[in-house]
Amino acid sequence: INAIDFASIRKDFPILDQDVNGYPLVYLDNAATTQKPQSVIQSLKNYYSRNNSNVHRGAHTLSDRATADFENARVEVQHFVNASKREEIIWTRGTTESINLVAQSYARPRLTNKDIIIVSAMEHHSNIVPWQMVCEQTGATLKVIPVNDQGELDLSAFQDMLSEQVKMVSVGHVSNALGSINPVKEIIEAAHAVGAKVMIDGAQAAPHFAIDVVDLDCDFYAFSGHKLFGPTGIGVLYGKESLLESMQPYQGGGEMIEVVSFDKTTFNQLPYKFEAGTPNIAGAIGLGAAIQYLNQFDRLELQRYEDGLLELATEQALATDDIKLVGTAKNKTGVLSFLIEGTHPHDVGTLLDQQGIAVRTGHHCAMPIMKQFNIPGTIRASFSFYNNQQDVERLFAAINKVKTFLV
Ligand code: PMP
Repeated sequence: INAIDFASIRKDFPILDQDVNGYPLVYLDNAATTQKPQSVIQSLKNYYSRNNSNVHRGAHTLSDRATADFENARVEVQHFVNASKREEIIWTRGTTESINLVAQSYARPRLTNKDIIIVSAMEHHSNIVPWQMVCEQTGATLKVIPVNDQGELDLSAFQDMLSEQVKMVSVGHVSNALGSINPVKEIIEAAHAVGAKVMIDGAQAAPHFAIDVVDLDCDFYAFSGHKLFGPTGIGVLYGKESLLESMQPYQGGGEMIEVVSFDKTTFNQLPYKFEAGTPNIAGAIGLGAAIQYLNQFDRLELQRYEDGLLELATEQALATDDIKLVGTAKNKTGVLSFLIEGTHPHDVGTLLDQQGIAVRTGHHCAMPIMKQFNIPGTIRASFSFYNNQQDVERLFAAINKVKTFLV
């Protein structure tokens, strides 16, 4: 479809080269987790076979090496999201922990029963439940930006919801269930106009296009390493330095302290203040390697290629009887969510797997939007740049076969 040598990119991902249930694997579950290039696997192997030790505290060479690699990975992330300072990059376990950190360390101590938190109707549970918990703890109210039948946010309703009572707005950059790309820059500007802070859940955005936290002017931005071709158990919270400085940590332990005494404990400086305990050192280094891997490509070209696959899949879906698309936003990426009339998503998923095709079925941790659409879940095919036209063709050939069994 395009100029980068996409056939050779595929060879960088060893897992793709295998048969599953007697068929060559077609991996279309990238929104759940992405596969890892050889360079990431190698960085983990190198860390554990050459440099493994604890960071920041060792008086020996291995610890110095591990610390240098761990902190260099933080700088990779800083540049990746265009943050001004390395102190603004906090390592977490993933998007979920990043959101919980902001909910507990920023929102919980500041909000009262007069305040409002806004999320949207298409959020992942991890961008709903932490805010519900803060509302329980503080008496604040959670309000929800409505979503239309196409899966787009109702921005004029959002404007109407804004007031000086709104202290926090947290929305997804890209929906994992529908693929909608939300106009977060507009949302951030409107929220700032009433003095609210904005958190962006970038779990599904970072894998598909470049993120610029300065241009967005978001207060907090979160993403997960495992959805970005890196390891599981590592993620990122970006926060504006002044906000992070003003926040108290919500987890205590080693690493995050300056001086501990039974009279008074003082906290470490940023970013360590929010990194209690031994961090996921290998994970951070692996995520750094994943970002280095991505940096060799023109990301716009990767995105165009992926969008080409999504377009092709959408055309095929529209040309197939009995398929109903869920999520038809004008601006979308990465995800084709659909139903086959007269079938249950789980049955379709199982029969696709028997033909070597990996998709996800179910509510995609976004029960509220499934409820709004009055469906139990969807079948979701999600794309990355190592997928190709043949994967799309295999998916639809398999769907047609499934239909002969089920419809
Ligand atoms: N937000 C969105 C939009 C997601 O797709 C996901 C993962 N499915 C998450 C948050 C949670 O990410 P994690 O489980 O890696 O913390």
